[in-house]
Amino acid sequence: MADNYDVIVLGSGPGGYVAAIRCAQLGLKTAIVERENLGGICLNWGCIPTKALLRSAEIFHYMQNAKDYGLMAEKISADLDAVVKRSRGVAKQLNQGVTHLMKKNKITVHMGDGKLIGKGKLSVTRDGKVEELTAKNIIIATGARARDLPQLKADGKRVWTYRHAMTPPEMPKKLLVVGSGAIGIEFASFYNDMGADVTVVEMLDRIVPVEDADVSAFLEKALTKQGMKILTGAKIDKIATGDKGVTATIKDKAGKDVTDEYSHVIVAIGIVPNVENLGLEDVGVEPDQRFHIKTDDFGRTNVDGVWAIGDVTAPPWLAHKASHEGVIVAEAIAGNHPHALDVRNIPGCTYCHPQIASVGLTEAKAKEAGYEVKVGNFPFIGNGKAIALGEAEGFVKTVFDAKTGELLGAHMIGAEVTEMIQGYTVGKTLETTEAELMETVFPHPTISEAMHESVLAAYGRAIHI
Ligand SMILES: Cc1cc2nc3c(=O)[nH]c(=O)nc-3n(C[C@H](O)[C@H](O)[C@H](O)COP(=O)(O)OP(=O)(O)OC[C@H]3O[C@@H](n4cnc5c(N)ncnc54)[C@H](O)[C@@H]3O)c2cc1C
Repeated sequence: MADNYDVIVLGSGPGGYVAAIRCAQLGLKTAIVERENLGGICLNWGCIPTKALLRSAEIFHYMQNAKDYGLMAEKISADLDAVVKRSRGVAKQLNQGVTHLMKKNKITVHMGDGKLIGKGKLSVTRDGKVEELTAKNIIIATGARARDLPQLKADGKRVWTYRHAMTPPEMPKKLLVVGSGAIGIEFASFYNDMGADVTVVEMLDRIVPVEDADVSAFLEKALTKQGMKILTGAKIDKIATGDKGVTATIKDKAGKDVTDEYSHVIVAIGIVPNVENLGLEDVGVEPDQRFHIKTDDFGRTNVDGVWAIGDVTAPPWLAHKASHEGVIVAEAIAGNHPHALDVRNIPGCTYCHPQIASVGLTEAKAKEAGYEVKVGNFPFIGNGKAIALGEAEGFVKTVFDAKTGELLGAHMIGAEVTEMIQGYTVGKTLETTEAELMETVFPHPTISEAMHESVLAAYGRAIHI
């Protein structure tokens, strides 16, 4: 007889495992199906192991600049294998943490490939053995994978996806990173700090193109100063692996073909949703135009009893978005009345050096949406703590609706901004205005004071510039 549940979650990333825990907390008999590692991409191959790598790179950078702090560090070197080993250890620790959470919440884990085989029915295949499960509700949380370059498939030797870049067979000497979104820029930053000669190629006219244009411009300058080569408005024309590595011909901004050899290439041109072989067509679940699963604001697909969350659905493709959706779906299944997720209030962080963090509309998007805006800008050089830390590179930009004072967006670049953005995110979620932010007392000395000053600057009241 098939095992019967109230809810089966297919995929155990930050969307799936969080949904499963909330379902269990709400008293629903819950199972989770996973074909690879509990914790999904985020804990095993994404957010967390990259941050472990970047932490090593950050410490290496500080060691190399020790004398700026009056300290001596001699004969400094990096052991890439040890850096990677630490990162894998961190991923393993978190994977075990999810295993523990499943046990604690009495969630049954079925390891294997899951597939919908009818209404409320799912098969799980492992090593040729098939088991059948049934449930009133199935949550699809199968995530996404790296998109390949049409001309060149990643082979793990010279051409890497993020998985290869996280467990490199050797240190790249001359690295080409294709794509300057968060993933591409984080790896470019890591390998640049570790000593590789890094070139980033971006098709659009600026790097980190979803961020505010001022942030893109500042980051480009900072990375160039660190020795990186940045090619924007540029396209890979030809690319092929050869004896020495990869030969790429890039059409630059001016339309000129530039051919160069690279030891390795990281392809970071986006993701494709994992929708294949899930039996979606058989049960009639509809995709959107980009082949992600279409849902309403509460994760319902067009098929009764089938829900979807996370990277397999609409953007933004971020772990915290997936987890938040997981909770919404669990509440909806339990018959509660959750709030729909407001994508305007989802922060985004990139952990390059300097870091980037933002929430809400960029200045350009706010204007495009018809707002008359007030914009504040405060540089880190006006912040005492940033100077004391030796991290005076960065700024905080805020965008307000000039009519109502509503905070529309906040954009930061510099040290610790990925920790600070949550202040503005809480504010935005509570629909804060400039008046409330000005009334808020910020602790001294902290870099967060720059957040206050940026708000004051939007209204011509900044103190320290
Ligand atoms: C290098 C990198 C760095 C990143 N850094 C960040 C970051 O700093 N912050 C951030 O917010 N986001 C980051 N992301 C994105 C983040 O990892 C994803 O948004 C997040 O993992 C999506 O969660 P999910 O639950 O939707 O899916 P996933 O985490 O992709 O999990 C899906 C799971 O489903 C399983 N699965 C798929 N199909 C089946 C099947 N048929 N049967 C059984 N199991 C199946 C997969 O094995 C996987 O474990 C990063 C991504 C990458 C690649």
